[in-house]
Amino acid sequence: MNTIALDWYEVISISDGISLIREKYVAGWLRCNIWHVRGRDRDLIIDTGMGLRPLVKEVSILADRPIIAIMTHSHFDHAGGLHQFEHRCGHALEHQIIASPTAANTVADTGYIRAETFTALPYQGFQHQDYLVKPAPLTQLLDEGDVVDLGNRVFSIFHLPGHSPGSIALFEQNTGILFSGDVIYDGDLLDTLYHSDAEQLKESLRRLQDLPITTVHGGHFPSFDKQRLRVIIEEYLAGGRRIGNSADWVGENLAE
Ligand SMILES: [Zn+2]
Repeated sequence: MNTIALDWYEVISISDGISLIREKYVAGWLRCNIWHVRGRDRDLIIDTGMGLRPLVKEVSILADRPIIAIMTHSHFDHAGGLHQFEHRCGHALEHQIIASPTAANTVADTGYIRAETFTALPYQGFQHQDYLVKPAPLTQLLDEGDVVDLGNRVFSIFHLPGHSPGSIALFEQNTGILFSGDVIYDGDLLDTLYHSDAEQLKESLRRLQDLPITTVHGGHFPSFDKQRLRVIIEEYLAGGRRIGNSADWVGENLAE
């Protein structure tokens, strides 16, 4: 397989000025959701994918807009494109990682990046084994209680550690929309990475149980409602929905 992709990104309009940008040729079991929120004064990008092609240049809804780019956390599939943006936000606990990324600290060495990860190549000469996240020192730190204001919509930051120490989520009080990163999505959750903490993740998920959430836009897989949120959290707290060893998990997914 060495076809070069023409259209690397696809844009799916969701609702409420929210669009989902996807890296079309990254396998569905790995591909991160890149969220775009149109604001009056500025736009928001929540996670940036692997950074294999220029997002702003190739996604027309981003043209000529002031953009705040946020990493929900520093893992390669979420923060790989952050270096392409001028205004880069994330939590202090993962600043060092994204300022000096390695395969190990961005979990790019966990068995997810392999030939089968890509159904087309991002550019001529791309070698998956050489993939590394580019340094993207944060220009603004975000922590619990901070607010991101787009002029006509406001998002509150929650610090929800566990999947990673500096995982953050964005909650819009007015609509009940939560952008959750990898704290929660409708799939198996990862709590065994080098800087994961399963007890912290439980605590973070318990916090979400009490919030007036209507829709969750997660870091992977389709969005879901409050009822599904409850089910996912209950299943996780009861010991289910765990990936365990990620290399084995990928192997099982490929075998299906
Ligand atoms: Zn992650």
